[in-house]
Amino acid sequence: MLLEVNSLSVNYRTERGMVRALTDLSLSLGERESVAIVGESGSGKSTLGVSIVRLLPPNGLYAGGNISLDGKNILTLSQREVRSIRGSVVFMVFQDPLNSLNPVKRVGDQITEALRIKGVREGRNYNGDRKEIIESFKSVRIPDPDLILERYPHELSGGQIQRVIIALGLLLKPKLLIADEPTSAVDVTLQAQVIKLLNDLKAEYGLSVIFITHDISVAYNVADKIAVMYAGKVVEIGPTEDVIKSPLHPYTQGLVSCIPSSRKTEGLLKTIGGSPPSLVKPPVGCRYHPRCPYAMEVCTTNDPELASVKGSSVACWLYPSKPLQLSSS
Ligand code: SF4
Repeated sequence: MLLEVNSLSVNYRTERGMVRALTDLSLSLGERESVAIVGESGSGKSTLGVSIVRLLPPNGLYAGGNISLDGKNILTLSQREVRSIRGSVVFMVFQDPLNSLNPVKRVGDQITEALRIKGVREGRNYNGDRKEIIESFKSVRIPDPDLILERYPHELSGGQIQRVIIALGLLLKPKLLIADEPTSAVDVTLQAQVIKLLNDLKAEYGLSVIFITHDISVAYNVADKIAVMYAGKVVEIGPTEDVIKSPLHPYTQGLVSCIPSSRKTEGLLKTIGGSPPSLVKPPVGCRYHPRCPYAMEVCTTNDPELASVKGSSVACWLYPSKPLQLSSS
């Protein structure tokens, strides 16, 4: 496996108390495989992404578990070792790509600098070959790459910056690309293009991809499998087709029922009732129970673990694929 996340827990210290952003989360990803991480805002999707690249904010702390990436335990590496992995093994495209670029440096200079640093880490003198950089820009369909290289970030559109960052990722040749809501900074007409671009690059470069999105219909178009997160936990994971067409967990069913249908022309769009819980004091038992139409007594006292059901894994007491093990709490 290229990536194995085992029982990962991550907390944030805040004035309101300790926020349990991720709880006991496990996930694996093979080479050339893609997974979409889906869930509402605050479900922990982005925290999972930054945890893998060890870029938690200063108030974030790893509270348990481990992350193995390309055979290395990410959480025990020195800062220097982690920096050498970023770019060469894993590359992250952030939600707001403008923040990934230095506003006072030309785009071309920043790309050359990133490649020079990679060269130094690999013990070679390499500043990036302009022809190679231009080719990479062309592969992400940036029109007029020579002109873009001379520009400052604020002179580019959101879509162009997004492509520049992806092009940089390709030049660094990582094994794993993490894209955090890569369609959120571009207008709706460009979203389909960004999705197609990521799919093409995955096939062409043999990348593994983690695609973080709040939109389960976007996930359908980009990933081999979907992991649905709720309140810091994975509640369902399975092949994309199965999760979309036969969702098992009531929360996944709610997300899928909210996908607008082109055949439905009347009525309001569906929404999931209620709101996500506070992660300072998450609900006891299944964290979804205050919103779940199928909640039973056991759901209010005992937290279900992921269990294998019909080729997927789901954490819900509706599926007794293994005996209920009631805790004493
Ligand atoms: S465990 Fe219970 S509350 Fe949670 S999703 Fe399943 S039925 Fe609903």
